[in-house]
Amino acid sequence: VTIFVPRDSTALALGANETAAAIEREAKARGIDIKLVRNGSRGMFWLEPLVEVATDAGRIGFGPIEAHEVAGLFDAGFTTGGSHPKALGLTEEIPYLKKQERLQFVRVGITDPVSLDDYLAHEGYVGLKKAIAMEPAAIVQEVTDSGLRGRGGAAFPTGIKWKTVLGAEAPQKYIACNADEGDSGTFSDRMVMEDDPFMLIEGMTIAGLAVKATEGYIYVRSEYPHSIANLNEAIAAANAAGYLGENILGSGRTFNLQVRKAAGAYVCGEETAMLESIEGKRGMVRAKPPLPALQGLFGQPTVINNVISLSAVPLILSRGAEFYKNYGMGRSRGTLPMQLAGNLKYGGLVEKAFGVTLRELLYDFGGGSESGRPIRAVQVGGPLGAYMPESLFDTPFDYEAFAAVASTVGHGGLVAFDDTVDMAKQARYAMHFCAEESCGKCTPCRIGSTRGVEVMDKIIANQNRPQQIHLLRDLCDVMVTGSLCAMGNMTPFPVLSALNHFPEDFGDQKTLAN
Ligand code: SF4
Repeated sequence: VTIFVPRDSTALALGANETAAAIEREAKARGIDIKLVRNGSRGMFWLEPLVEVATDAGRIGFGPIEAHEVAGLFDAGFTTGGSHPKALGLTEEIPYLKKQERLQFVRVGITDPVSLDDYLAHEGYVGLKKAIAMEPAAIVQEVTDSGLRGRGGAAFPTGIKWKTVLGAEAPQKYIACNADEGDSGTFSDRMVMEDDPFMLIEGMTIAGLAVKATEGYIYVRSEYPHSIANLNEAIAAANAAGYLGENILGSGRTFNLQVRKAAGAYVCGEETAMLESIEGKRGMVRAKPPLPALQGLFGQPTVINNVISLSAVPLILSRGAEFYKNYGMGRSRGTLPMQLAGNLKYGGLVEKAFGVTLRELLYDFGGGSESGRPIRAVQVGGPLGAYMPESLFDTPFDYEAFAAVASTVGHGGLVAFDDTVDMAKQARYAMHFCAEESCGKCTPCRIGSTRGVEVMDKIIANQNRPQQIHLLRDLCDVMVTGSLCAMGNMTPFPVLSALNHFPEDFGDQKTLAN
């Protein structure tokens, strides 16, 4: 009998290794022959460690199972269909999973992340095989036709970026994957790297073929040791099997890939600061132009994409642009792996086509607040994202629809707050975060954020509020228009959204009229 216990770091944090060891011990003691597979996580974190047993009808789930509960599981005969209070039935039938549209995350939680055989048995490398038979421009066209836009936050059309790099003449070109996933409440990049690393490797290899780049870097935040380990293991396996390196699958094409460990600066998620860091320098933002697509890593044309963007590519090549494009709404095509975090009953990963509303995510998937109190605000898109009030919960996930209400989809992370939240303190936190993480290159961000904290302190202390609020708006104006990168020009998003949507937390309504 095959038993699955996840190796994803969320499951590990909840004791998955101890549960797995207990299962092996109990099986041995009882003379039961088992095969233990350490799969990725299904992304239903409240059920971790989620133990699954393979049956003819599909996998049956039990969770969460701590090590001390394992003997009871065996007593109940869980390997032979016995019932147990923590039995969940067929995992695939759990509504949270069933209601999703898992295109990219289709293997996540199913396969052994570092097994190339498992990857190949689940549609792995079908896209690369197709790409190898195509001209570079045709690959770029396929990605353009799919409508894929950058999932890191900027939502720039991926195909157009690739076309610029393909058209640039240079002795060397690079693919740089931004895996410095620093936004609060986000973990989809981590899950790809830990739970399905070959998908990212394949996507980057296809990108290399598409733009004629032979070298690639994955810049992974240092807080993700399991991602780094799994990527390195998968890269070694792909190299050994001829899917990466010299002469890929006998095609004469080359693509080498290496992992770079970041050093823990939020600003290195900004693409040019990331390039500086990969080059071994301090992570400072570069002024644009030149565009990294023309003069990027080591001064050469470089494709910079986020983990989710690059790992969408194998699917687009294997199923075709039309297939991918059929999901979504407006100019937001395909699916987005959304991450539910904060004060929610059911936190986890939900992959849905664009068009799903915030309300569906918060209530149909998230189950409402963990505390049982009303959800008052949701911050979407990381620490630089806007706080959205209940009146905006019917906004569909769509880049344009979010922009229309002064918000951003960002990297698809949602952090929910109940009605005990103090929005003035959240606004102060945004300024404080910017002051801590600013690279210091430009004045509006470096000085503005520090002044912003001081102004917020006065507002919170009820010192001359009308004047201070006026000052705060002025300061936000300067930061939006005068900062060199998103760090400074997006910090006003959480600040102003808190002020505009929750004025009662900043003083009385009359105070805010100006
Ligand atoms: Fe650096 Fe902030 Fe200016 Fe960006 S906005 S370049 S992080 S100082």
